[in-house]
Amino acid sequence: MSTDQVPLQAAQLKALAQKPSRDCTCGMGACAAWESVPGQRWPAKHVTLLGSLWSADRFGPEPTYEEFHPNKTRYDSADAPIAPAFFPYNRCDVFGCGACGRVLLKYTEYGGYYVDDRVRAVQADLVVAHNKAPENDRAS
Ligand SMILES: [Zn+2]
Repeated sequence: MSTDQVPLQAAQLKALAQKPSRDCTCGMGACAAWESVPGQRWPAKHVTLLGSLWSADRFGPEPTYEEFHPNKTRYDSADAPIAPAFFPYNRCDVFGCGACGRVLLKYTEYGGYYVDDRVRAVQADLVVAHNKAPENDRAS
């Protein structure tokens, strides 16, 4: 199985999110914190897949469930750091919205009896390059 998804580094994610954006018309709202986004709300026709925060080997060991909250934020805090080496950022795909120019992160939360797509808009100044992932062998 081949993939053309490019694993993005924190610095690249930050650079993408620093591009100017307009008020969103794509129905995603602010999405400053993680939001549950049912399939019909996801603006599929506006967004383009830019890359992924999964490690290069998507079929390797499962990424950590550890979260990164040095400043006592929580999973659903609007100001929680965006740390690509940590949950849930380490299993996100990265999309660009053609309508508003924002960068959106998306992953699927698996519960006992449900799957739930979660989306968060990237604020560039929340992206941290703190890398503590087990396999961080891609020095650039
Ligand atoms: Zn948008």
